[in-house]
Amino acid sequence: MNILVINCGSSSLKYQLINSDSEEVLAKGLCERIGAAGSCLTHKPAGKDQYYVENPMPDHTVAVQMVIDALTDKDHGVVASLSEIGAVGHRIVHGGEKFASSVLITPDVIKAIEEVSDLAPLHNPANLIGIHACEKIMPGVPMVAVFDTAFHQTMPPKAYMYGLPYEYYEKYKVRRYGFHGTSHDYVSKRAAEFLGKKREDLKIIVCHLGNGASISAVMNGKCVDTSMGLTPLEGLIMGTRSGDLDPAILEFIANKEGLTLAEVTNVLNKKSGVQGLSKVSSDFRDLSKAMDEGNELAKITLETYCYRVAKYVGSYVAAMNGVDVIAFTAGIGENDGRVREMVGQYFDYLGASIDPEKNAKRGEEIIISKPGDKVTVVVIPTNEELAIARQTVAIVK
Ligand code: ADP
Repeated sequence: MNILVINCGSSSLKYQLINSDSEEVLAKGLCERIGAAGSCLTHKPAGKDQYYVENPMPDHTVAVQMVIDALTDKDHGVVASLSEIGAVGHRIVHGGEKFASSVLITPDVIKAIEEVSDLAPLHNPANLIGIHACEKIMPGVPMVAVFDTAFHQTMPPKAYMYGLPYEYYEKYKVRRYGFHGTSHDYVSKRAAEFLGKKREDLKIIVCHLGNGASISAVMNGKCVDTSMGLTPLEGLIMGTRSGDLDPAILEFIANKEGLTLAEVTNVLNKKSGVQGLSKVSSDFRDLSKAMDEGNELAKITLETYCYRVAKYVGSYVAAMNGVDVIAFTAGIGENDGRVREMVGQYFDYLGASIDPEKNAKRGEEIIISKPGDKVTVVVIPTNEELAIARQTVAIVK
């Protein structure tokens, strides 16, 4: 069965068409600037030339129609008609406490996603627009919602409660939820398989280090803690997000800079993190280059970033009373050997060390700790689209 995986943002739509039997990606692409001037589609069919077209996309329904047209086009298409698309898997950012796993999309599910939208006001409404657009263009094709938060719903209250008045939880469901769940689930499962073990028998720490970054503690197959919270702002220092900080900083900066709370929150989300601290870039390739050229602030930024990762790893070793496997994944985790090495310098107490030769490899599943180490450190490339396609098939079959 061919599964169309959709990741819909407010002005963009990413897609992949995946054959669920062979797990091959038949085509992937991106619609950008939906609802604005200069909207365009970049479509990459497997084994054929990339196709790029600028075309007005006043809304997501037009974008979905363009995606279907591209997928079924006689030149750059990969299927003959819409009937060869068996189901659609939608990435949904926030499932609140309602969804602990993926579900078939029904009118009730749409209502429930709407109800938790105030927990993710930038993301859930955009995800819903994608669902409605597909409903219009592909009526009758089953759709599945795969939630970023679902895998973390097994966290116990001691991991998800904040030290706030309980009434905020009762009234508004203010608690920690965690994100990147599809990746943490996929990578922890894959790490166990790769090592020839059962995830149920292991204590695994997954470091998802991408532009957004989070860590999770997966004990006996279940998530017991993760670093992101009510929103993706909590936890690690990220590309442009601050991660953890003293909450009193918000008022302090608001007063000093004459900003509203919303403006300070915007700074914490979009102008902080590695970019804000280094004054160089949110991209680790630029940061590393600057450090090599002697930029002291870039060096301090990298050290601060890695120190935060190492502290979270340590706290999850405590939470699980041990660890068997530490897995690195996502853009930085998969590609940046320097970051892995700098984080690994804090693993002595665990009886793990990073092998420089293995750590120099990129883009493959590999053990980067030394033979005989007490804790195994691995790199596992994540694949959220494949994970969404697998869950979609499992539900519609
Ligand atoms: P997201 O999905 O959150 O947008 P990714 O997981 O794709 O992010 O990670 C993107 C980040 O990965 C880039 O911003 C960059 O910092 C980092 N990255 C990508 N390739 C490399 C590389 N070859 N070396 C170092 N860092 C890299």
